[in-house]
Formats: sequence, C-alpha cells, structure tokens
Amino acid sequence: MKYDRIFNFNPGPAAVPLEVLEYIHANWFNYKKTGMNIMEWSHRSKEYDEIHNKTAALVKQLLGMGDEFHVLFLQGGASLQFAMVPMNFLLEGKTADYLNTGSWSSKAIKEAKLFGNVNIAFEGKDVNFTRLPKQQDLKLTKGAAYVHVTSNNTIKGTQFFKFPETDGVPIVSDMSSDILSHRFDPKPFGLIYAGAQKNLGPSGVTLVIVRDDFLKTARTGLTTMLQYSTHVQENSLFNTPNTFGIFFMGRVLQWMVDMGGLTAMEKRNQEKANLLYGYMDGSNGFYRGTVDKDSRSWMNVCLRLPSEDLEAKFVSEAKAAGFLGLKGHRSVGGIRVSMYNAIPPEAIKELIGFMKNFMAKNG
Ligand code: PMP
Repeated sequence: MKYDRIFNFNPGPAAVPLEVLEYIHANWFNYKKTGMNIMEWSHRSKEYDEIHNKTAALVKQLLGMGDEFHVLFLQGGASLQFAMVPMNFLLEGKTADYLNTGSWSSKAIKEAKLFGNVNIAFEGKDVNFTRLPKQQDLKLTKGAAYVHVTSNNTIKGTQFFKFPETDGVPIVSDMSSDILSHRFDPKPFGLIYAGAQKNLGPSGVTLVIVRDDFLKTARTGLTTMLQYSTHVQENSLFNTPNTFGIFFMGRVLQWMVDMGGLTAMEKRNQEKANLLYGYMDGSNGFYRGTVDKDSRSWMNVCLRLPSEDLEAKFVSEAKAAGFLGLKGHRSVGGIRVSMYNAIPPEAIKELIGFMKNFMAKNG
C-alpha cells in the first residue's frame, strides 16, 4: 500500500483519510505562505479565525443545521461532556432520562447521578446490551429535562438509526463514534457531543453542538469553563482551543464534502456494513455477530469465533497480514472491526478475503 501503510481498524483514535494526511504534510512548514505551521499561529490571528469559523460552518453544512445551532470545540473529551451536560441542564426538581445501551452510557449515567434525578428509561443490562430499545420499551418521563442517548455503542456494537420519539423533550446525544456517518434529522436534538478521534480527526477536540432554545434552559453561575454559554458567547475562543486539532477536523470535514457529503458517507458506510455482515451471516456460524440484526452498528462490528483460542489466533494472524486493531474491547472479548468514515469499502473487501482464508484453514 502507499507509504507502506496498513489496514487500520483501531476503535479510536482511528484511521483518518489519507488525503487529509497528505494535505497536512504538504503544508507542514509553511501553510498558505504564512511562513508557519498552523499550530504556530495565534488563536487570535485572522488566519486562524478563518479556519475556526470555516470548520464550524462545515459541521452545520454537513448536518443540515440552521442558525439555531451553535458549534463549539471544547476539550476534556466526551468524558467531560458526561458531567457538563447534567451540570448545565439537570436542574433541581427535574429528571433526566437516560437510555443505558452500553459502557459509555453507563459512564454518562454515573456522572448525571451526581447532579440530580436520573430515570433509566431503558436498561440494556437486562438484555446483555445485545439490542437497542424499541419505542414501546422506553419509560420516558413527562417533561424531562432531556433524554440522553448514545447513538453508537462503540464497545457493544449497536447503533441507533431511528432516534426515540420524545414528545418535544430535547435529545442529548453522545455521537462520539458515529457522528457524520449517516443522515438524520437534527431538529429534536438539544445537544450533540463527540470526541473527534473516530470520525473527525485527532483526539483532543470535542465537538459540541447546542440548540439555542435548549441552551437558554441551562443553569447559570457555574464555574466559567464548564458553563456552555461561556463558549457560545466567545465562539469557542474563551481560552486557547486546540487550534491544530480544529484545523485537522476542518480538513476531514472538507474531505467529507468533497466525497459527496453525508449522503455519500451513508452510502459508503452502508456498503461496508452490508459486505461484512453479509459475509459473516453466510459463514455457517463461524463468524457470529453478537448483537440483534436490527441493532447492528455500521461503525463497530462485533463478532465471535468458535473459540477464544481461534480468536487470539485470528487477531495475531490478521496483524501479521497487515490488519490492525481487530481485538474486541477487553470488557467483552471477541473481535471488533471498527470501520469509521475514513475506512474505504476496499479495506473491508481485503479483510473479508483474509477471513475467508482463515476459515478455510480453521473451520
Ligand atoms: N463515548 C463513546 C461512545 C466513546 O466511544 C468514547 C471513547 N471511545 C467516549 C465516549 C469517551 O471519549 P473520550 O475518550 O473522548 O472522553
């Protein structure tokens, strides 16, 4: 492969589009005749400002969002959002509904409980996290502060394509591992957050999108850095943001636009999912998916082989053949194929070729 690169199926930080790496490499020492690398610019400079605003505009353009949404670039990862969301929006006397659909939802719930009343509207533990809830499974609170949903469960391998009906209650979603992977209607969302390190570029930036009317319901008087309104008022330049990370994200977003936007990303991701799940389903149980078919993630495909010994052999032989990052999360075992936007369908075809050979030798 070009530059001797390998097939990178890491769950995050994860593969980024090669075209983006090439662009950044080509402009490394002297970006746009400024005589500097982007990371050497001031965050108050005109040059950086342009990048900052362009990146935010691309987010909205790709998601089809209007002026009612504010785009922020924060730090502290999605993990800080687990706390900032309830800190700002779970007011006294109110309840927040949380859908527990996996390890990351559980972590978000743990934080929310520190700030107020939490109602578990769906307890995925009861089904071993092998499926997502149907609308009729949800025990939603009337007039809740918000409903929290993890749109893609990176570790368990499930993904929402249809979000819950919440009767006007704003949805807050952790989209860390599937942001911009398929189309959805943004209107019901009060707030969306995502660590950048899967679909958006390097770690160290957290994308937060907050709807204006929801923002107005936030508690005031919080410590300045943890109050969303601080960052909205200052256009995410209250303090020094991760300028290089935001620049990088902007290039990834531009790549998505050049590829044909969200419609093209959806088509590409669906194609990959059809290829891989289709192959697994035809393998006579050798490669066995771990979640219900209608809850399957297009981003993280979790599977088991007939034995743990075979799984270990699979991971090590795959690595030797140039397929990296296939070991399932330590909490669940098995195999996980993370295939975010940057992974082309060709990589999945190559992987299936390897899987066929492996099964022929070990099946
Ligand atoms: N939410 C989800 C769905 C994730 O996949 C992850 C990281 N893998 C996190 C939250 C935590 O993100 P961070 O490391 O940016 O805090």
